[in-house]
Amino acid sequence: MKPFGYVRAAGIEEAVAAYAAQPGARYLGGGTNLVDLMKLGVEEPATLVDISRLGLDTVEEDPDGALRIGATVRNSDLAAHPLVRGRYPALSQALLAGASGQLRNIATTGGNLLQRTRCPYFQDIGKPCNKREPGSGCGALDGVHRDHAVLGHSPQCIATHPSDMAVALAALDAHIELYGPDGARTLQAADFHRLPAEQPERDTEIRPGELITAVVLPAAKAGLPSAYRKARDRASYAFALASVAAVLRVENGVVHDAGIAFGALAHRPWRARRTEEALLGAAPTAAAFERAVDLELAAARPLRDNAYKVRLARSLALDVLSRLAPPGTT
Ligand code: SF4
Repeated sequence: MKPFGYVRAAGIEEAVAAYAAQPGARYLGGGTNLVDLMKLGVEEPATLVDISRLGLDTVEEDPDGALRIGATVRNSDLAAHPLVRGRYPALSQALLAGASGQLRNIATTGGNLLQRTRCPYFQDIGKPCNKREPGSGCGALDGVHRDHAVLGHSPQCIATHPSDMAVALAALDAHIELYGPDGARTLQAADFHRLPAEQPERDTEIRPGELITAVVLPAAKAGLPSAYRKARDRASYAFALASVAAVLRVENGVVHDAGIAFGALAHRPWRARRTEEALLGAAPTAAAFERAVDLELAAARPLRDNAYKVRLARSLALDVLSRLAPPGTT
C-alpha cells in the first residue's frame, strides 16, 4: 500500500474543507471497501479525511414522521433499529443480507452507498478496466461475466452495483442528503447511482468533495408491507446474483402504491417503474404480478453467460410480491 496522509475532521464543514485542501483526498468512514481497494492498488489516495466523528451517527424521527439516518450509522445498528425493523422491514432485511456480521459492525450507511463494484477485472490492476482506467477496455465483456449486468449496461462497462441496502432505499423512495463545496443538496436514492454509458468511472451523481450526510426515509412508506429477497451462490457473505426490494399498499382489492427495485442486475439499483405503473389500480393477482414483472424484464439484454439472471429476478419478484399481497387480499 502506498503511504498516505490522515486528517481527522471534527465537523462537516471542516471535513469538506480538508478534502478541498488535499488533492487526491478520500473520505474515510468504516473503510471496509476503501482500505481493501488501497491494498489492491486500485485506490491510491494521497490523504484520508476521517469522517467517523462528525456526529452523523444517529437515527432520528423528523417532525413529519420521516426517519433521518446519519451517514456514519453502522449497518448493524441500522438493521437492528426498532423504527427501521418496524416501519421499513425491507431495509433491515437488505442490510442483514449484506456482507458479514463483522463487516456490518463497522461499515457505514454512506460507505455502503459508495462501495465500488466487485467486478474481478476492476479489482485486478493487471487487467483492462474502463472503470478503473478509462479507455483501457473492459475485460469482462468477452471474459468471465456470469455475475454482471443484464439491464442498462454499455459496451464500456457491464458491472453491477454490489449494495443490498441501496436496492431497498430505491424501492422505499428514500432520499440522500449531501454537503459539499457548493453547500447542501438532496438526491433521490433511485437517482443517486448512474448507468455506465460512456463514463463508467463515475458510479454516482456525487460531485467532487461532496459528503453524504444523511439518508431520509419518507413517512409515506412507514409501516407499509415491504420485503427484500436476495439470491446468491451461498447462504451468507456473498454478493447477490439477483435481488428485489418491494413495498406494496393494497386497499379495497387494488394496488394503491408500489415501489419495486432490482439489485445485481445493473450498474445501479434498478427501479422497476414499468412494473409499478402496471400494478397501480390492478388487483393483486398472480397474473397481474407476472404481467407487470415481465414488462420490466423485457428490457433485459443478457450477456453470453448470464441469461439465468432474468429468470432468477423474475422468480424473486413474483415471490416477494405474492408474499406482500397474497392474490385475492383486500
Ligand atoms: Fe471494468 Fe466495468 Fe468492465 Fe468490470 S465490467 S472490467 S468494472 S469496465
